Amino acid sequence: MKTNPDCIFCKIVAGEIPACKILEDDVALAFMDIGPVAEGHVLLIPKEHYETISDIPEEPAAAILKKLPQLVAAVQTATGSEGVNVLQNNGTVAGQLVPHVHFHIIPRNPGDKFEYNWPVGEYPEGKMPELADKIKKVISRQ
Ligand code: 5GP
Ligand code: ZN
Repeated sequence: MKTNPDCIFCKIVAGEIPACKILEDDVALAFMDIGPVAEGHVLLIPKEHYETISDIPEEPAAAILKKLPQLVAAVQTATGSEGVNVLQNNGTVAGQLVPHVHFHIIPRNPGDKFEYNWPVGEYPEGKMPELADKIKKVISRQ
């Protein structure tokens, strides 16, 4: 299994530093976030060290994501939150501080303090299908 001795989440997987664990199998681990955006904030990670989501092969990706519905439902029921955000940051520019893939599961309630900017844009004529084609071409070469 790929690990990184300098990675804080690899150290949690190895049991070298403590974490409040929620669920665990051969591929995935979920534990409480130490700096919660809201009470009940949970992180879901692959046990293996992958830096970003595009580094994970299909099989472990599927094995991790399989856990999401159950985990989100449990967080929501246990905290009594009205909603939940599932967030996943890739790269420093996107807010990723820990370079080991993780999904944030964050309970949401009316009037909570969590805000983000969602600047809705608009495509110039022809740009949307052009970009779609470009993305499709990359997929076909993968
Ligand atoms: P990122 O900004 O990389 O998407 O999120 C990293 C998350 O990891 C943060 O929410 C932070 O609170 C959490 N975190 C960082 N170090 C630790 C740790 O040692 N233990 C736990 N449980 N969470 C951590
Ligand atoms: Zn790691």
